[in-house]
Amino acid sequence: MRPALPAILAVLLSLAAPAALAAEPLRVVASFSILGDLVAEVGGEHVAVTNIVGPNGDAHVYEPNPADARAVAGADLVVVNGLGFEGWLDRLVQASGYRGRLVVASDGAGLLTLAEEGVEQPPEHAPDADDPHESEGVDPHAWQSVPNAKIYVANIAAALCGAAPDRCTMFRRNADAYAGELEALDASIRGGIAKIPAERRKLITSHDAFGYFGEEYGVEILAPQGMSTESEASAADVARLVEQIRREEVTALFVENISDPRLIETIGRETGVTPGGALYSDALSEPGGPAATYVEMMRHNAGLMQAAMQGS
Ligand SMILES: [Zn+2]
Repeated sequence: MRPALPAILAVLLSLAAPAALAAEPLRVVASFSILGDLVAEVGGEHVAVTNIVGPNGDAHVYEPNPADARAVAGADLVVVNGLGFEGWLDRLVQASGYRGRLVVASDGAGLLTLAEEGVEQPPEHAPDADDPHESEGVDPHAWQSVPNAKIYVANIAAALCGAAPDRCTMFRRNADAYAGELEALDASIRGGIAKIPAERRKLITSHDAFGYFGEEYGVEILAPQGMSTESEASAADVARLVEQIRREEVTALFVENISDPRLIETIGRETGVTPGGALYSDALSEPGGPAATYVEMMRHNAGLMQAAMQGS
């Protein structure tokens, strides 16, 4: 007597699919290290994250290589910041042949325009009309506000649930626990900055990556280099900034982990202000460094800012 077809199917399925599903982590490609950490926090052991731009890397000027295209081609999910941050992304996705979902982590985040931040956009950085991901006049560094990072996390959790519904309960649980951690982080940054007298809440850093931080926590950010590391500071801009630092007795001057420190060092020599260390703007540190995760990065930056603005 032949076994019934459903019985054969059941045997085949029990041999193949469930075991594979349970063991295989989702392959997620994140465009840069900060996003990669958020994905890892939500995905835990159920995701294998590959960052295209790694620790201390500069995503503004990154040039993808064939290994990146292979990683994207083999991904179950690709997560990006959006807002024109990853100008190289569309070409990379096209070249890879990836047909899966492209998750824009910043969807629904509270955005700042360059005009609101008082930034004049250089003509060479004008939005590309052919690029649907390019956002006209929007500051892409939205992760520098913790409330925005919570929105990133919710988007990532929803995307992981869509990609692996069988593990959604775990993704939701991780995302909830991590959101609690982010709330505590937000409160501690707010409390720390509140101790600084209002007239001292000013700092200078290489490129303008901290507009969201400034807006959220009440710090005035001055940056000679503008919004992208692609742009260059003009001599007149630098002279104006040096004058302002002297006039307003600004004591907080920072280099960044992804930017050339020379301009800030020059401004430091001109003004007699010693740079207060390196802020992590667009990338994490290497593992074991001072900013190996998003939470560590925000704590590290806020701690350095507080000390330097205090002028102690
Ligand atoms: Zn940047």
